[in-house]
Amino acid sequence: MSYVDTEQVSKWLDRWKGYLDEDSIMRMKYRIIDIPTADVTEVKHGKWVMVETEYDIGNSAIYECSLCGRKIGCDRYPTKRVPGSDYPIAVSVEELFPYCHCGAKMEVE
Ligand SMILES: [Zn+2]
Repeated sequence: MSYVDTEQVSKWLDRWKGYLDEDSIMRMKYRIIDIPTADVTEVKHGKWVMVETEYDIGNSAIYECSLCGRKIGCDRYPTKRVPGSDYPIAVSVEELFPYCHCGAKMEVE
């Protein structure tokens, strides 16, 4: 299942001006409100921002959510173990913590 943004559909219909008569386009725009809606929430996007603290020791670091300011502790150069490999691979902090508790989806810089 996929969802569409009705505002975007309205803009998309504007692109047909010149191919379809204006009246047809307007009538289709008015019909958009008849499309059944689904309960979807807008995804908030944030970033983990490394912050300097007095607690920085060695490879550990503190990251702050760019939206709510919640702090997490993580390695400065995070890694994770993968099956079949003897060595951990380098990953981003977003890969280890893809979401903040505030609901933000964390984007890789
Ligand atoms: Zn947050």
